[in-house]
Amino acid sequence: MRLADLSGFALDLDGCVWAGDLLLPGARALLAALRRRGKRVVFLTNNSRELPRSVARKLNRLGVAASPREVVTALDLLGDEIARRFGLTAVLAVGAGEMARALAACGHRVVPSARWREARVVAVGNDPTFDYAKLKAASQAVARGAAFVTVNLDPRLPLEKGEFDPGAGALAEAVAVASGVRPLVIGKPEPPIFKTALQRLGCRPREAAMVGDSLRSDIRGGRAAGMFTVWVAPPRSKTQAGIRPHLRVASLTELHALLEEGVSIRRRRQFPSTRG
Ligand SMILES: [Mg+2]
Repeated sequence: MRLADLSGFALDLDGCVWAGDLLLPGARALLAALRRRGKRVVFLTNNSRELPRSVARKLNRLGVAASPREVVTALDLLGDEIARRFGLTAVLAVGAGEMARALAACGHRVVPSARWREARVVAVGNDPTFDYAKLKAASQAVARGAAFVTVNLDPRLPLEKGEFDPGAGALAEAVAVASGVRPLVIGKPEPPIFKTALQRLGCRPREAAMVGDSLRSDIRGGRAAGMFTVWVAPPRSKTQAGIRPHLRVASLTELHALLEEGVSIRRRRQFPSTRG
């Protein structure tokens, strides 16, 4: 099988397609090539602060064609996943304003920190105004029996020039430590977000690729979902025990080249890649 025989491509955004406001090398050309070949594309992000519409707008602004239907964000799934598991309920939302709005739009009642005792679910996303009072409210609610859900457990959100923002995972872990309870994870590597991605791609897992820079979330989750996994990793990136991508590339430029060369990916399943 060649890369071009796959019919759907799910691409991670942060650290794969872009870093902050910068499109990463090869992203625009690879996506144009996938479109030209009639491949289905979805952008799959653990982002807890943005909904598909604003992510699609940013892609368009950076010169990449994308519609909101082609974007799946963990924030977008949060409200539905809480409803499916716990019904429409009272949620203490530790996250950006977009998260509270998305939960309310799903029909949940968002309770403020001061009324944490009313919360049946505590939801954690990335929150630039996270502070001690929020940590205290969230961890007390969870310790007293509220369900604990996080958009993702990513430790960092990569920015330009090697800088980073702390990820939602850094906040969720603080709540987990204080409450003594592990959270339920909505985003990658857990199944809900991959299930939605495959539905959007309209293909079977083995006909789809997951392309991303995180072994822990993209590669582990993609493999568990049955997809072909492509790890985008600079040459000196360290592998993690037990997480093996089917293919390793240094950049999307290299992935684009492999797509155009029509290289057999079965023979390239061994790790690490022979290129570079
Ligand atoms: Mg990433």
